[in-house]
Amino acid sequence: MMNKYPRYITPDSQAFDSLELASETEKIVCKNKERKYTAFYATGVYGGIATGYTVGCCLRCYFCWVDWSRDFPERFGNFYSPEEAFGELKQAAHKYKVSRLRLSGAEPTLGKEHLLALLELVENSEFPVFILETNGILFGADKEYVARVSKFTKPHIRVSLKAGTPQDFTRKTGAKEENFELPFHAIRNLLDEKASFHVAAMTDKRIMGKEERESLIQKLWEIDPKIVKNLEKEVVDPYDTTLARLKYADVGLKW
Ligand code: SF4
Repeated sequence: MMNKYPRYITPDSQAFDSLELASETEKIVCKNKERKYTAFYATGVYGGIATGYTVGCCLRCYFCWVDWSRDFPERFGNFYSPEEAFGELKQAAHKYKVSRLRLSGAEPTLGKEHLLALLELVENSEFPVFILETNGILFGADKEYVARVSKFTKPHIRVSLKAGTPQDFTRKTGAKEENFELPFHAIRNLLDEKASFHVAAMTDKRIMGKEERESLIQKLWEIDPKIVKNLEKEVVDPYDTTLARLKYADVGLKW
């Protein structure tokens, strides 16, 4: 049990264990096979995609754009069974005439049994691709989870890395330095399981210096040079929530 449930980063925040936060957050956003979402809609990214916006995360990135449901998951969203979530995704896809599906928002891998049941429904559907965006924390800690997701043919996983060194990881995400390696383990697990995936990284020069970027690239290179070649570089978008989190973290960044 955590002493205090972490919200957004402030200068006096204590580093937390991201796996512990994952489990505490699951107690709020998951109920049996149901999981909380705030919305289902379609967006223009990936050439048009129906999206389920999940509630709750196991990191607290200060550049995060996700709405306040990340920080206060008890206040937002409604519970959906895998069948209901799939129905909402399907409805959004038909309404906006798109064929791809996605889970985004906070951290979609929270609620393992919900996600696996949803993927089963997608697997047997007309939809050809399911994009799963993750911070890689749970996939790094649970290889069996990666194996079960990888047995499906529809998912393409996007692992988004937040920092290039353990110290920067703690500063930017609020999680303990020991958790830094988990997303890199996730990448190794995905490679071992021959999953369809690619890696993105928050390499925005405004928050990642040259040395940190070099350290990140070096780590990825040692895993597989192809990952570096195909690396998706993320930039910080100035959403209201992002600007508020940067202000609360008081890290001296002005936008
Ligand atoms: S950026 Fe992603 S991993 Fe980081 S807190 Fe936001 S939702 Fe979680």
